[in-house]
Amino acid sequence: MRAIVLEQPGTRLHEKRVPVPEPGPGQVLVDVSACGVCRTDLHVVDGELPDPKLPLVPGHQIVGRVADAGEGADRYAPGERVGIPWLGWTCGECRYCRAGRENLCPRALFTGYTLDGGYAESAVADERYCFPLPGDASDVETTPLLCAGLIGYRALRLAGDGERLGLYGFGAAAHIVAQVAIHQNRRVFAFTREGDDEAQSLARELGAEWAGATGGKTPPAELDAAIVFAPVGALVPEALAATAPGGTVVCAGIHMSDIPSFPYELLWHERTLRSVANLTRADGEEFLALALRIPVRTAVEVHPLSDAAHALERLRGGKVRGAAVLDVAGSDRSAGEEPNG
Ligand SMILES: [Zn+2]
Ligand SMILES: [Zn+2]
Repeated sequence: MRAIVLEQPGTRLHEKRVPVPEPGPGQVLVDVSACGVCRTDLHVVDGELPDPKLPLVPGHQIVGRVADAGEGADRYAPGERVGIPWLGWTCGECRYCRAGRENLCPRALFTGYTLDGGYAESAVADERYCFPLPGDASDVETTPLLCAGLIGYRALRLAGDGERLGLYGFGAAAHIVAQVAIHQNRRVFAFTREGDDEAQSLARELGAEWAGATGGKTPPAELDAAIVFAPVGALVPEALAATAPGGTVVCAGIHMSDIPSFPYELLWHERTLRSVANLTRADGEEFLALALRIPVRTAVEVHPLSDAAHALERLRGGKVRGAAVLDVAGSDRSAGEEPNG
């Protein structure tokens, strides 16, 4: 099969022919239809996350159809549409797993990082960590739900239920979270890079009350909560400064540049600063059901599998409107926008 492979962090991704993986006990083999591109993939490729599997097939927002099943795997019928998310396996035995906090399992394995992922024509996954994907949204449009959506939703939940929500970085995750927040009757304030008119217009189209640049401009209302999606530590004191007493600032990314020191008064008055790590399967079930009900619509920029490295560079440059997706099967092309540059 065709696969995009990372041989060593810091080197360029390249396309290779590799054997189709065999599903082990409890695993399904999935024909990959589409795989979302996530900023975490960029951190893996750049070597900012320790100890990836090598060589590695990146990608952890996989939509495909079950082609085969290993011994004892019986949850899915052949041909059923499933999603494979970031959380690929947990031990089930540690104190985190036993307490329903499998997102913190120290032995957890992650798709497209410590397990091979979906930048390929086929992938295997432990069926217990896959999600069924009913609904009529196309495969490419569904992929961003599987990380941007899931982890964004967890970040939203942990931000509390304040009315005025700031989103710092308006990409794949924020454009989904904004729809959920507005469905919950919250007011959304979107912060983007200076001059990112595309992201700001997308935010307004989705119902954000205000969209503007980071780095000085304050929104018209004090925030009750903020989620920092951009991997930029300098946004943390900025978000704290925009947040009302008692409010929460959530850092939603797996990697961030250093947070500059800031005066205690930004944290004072019971503001909370926290991170969000990974997802639990319960998060996924809850969010995917909600996304169907709302329904969440994603804005996607579609690339062929062979363009994975280019798609990642567009993401790095902040050029993607919504989410970038690799259309592996090539059948959903009409459902998304073509890249325009
Ligand atoms: Zn565990
Ligand atoms: Zn991700």
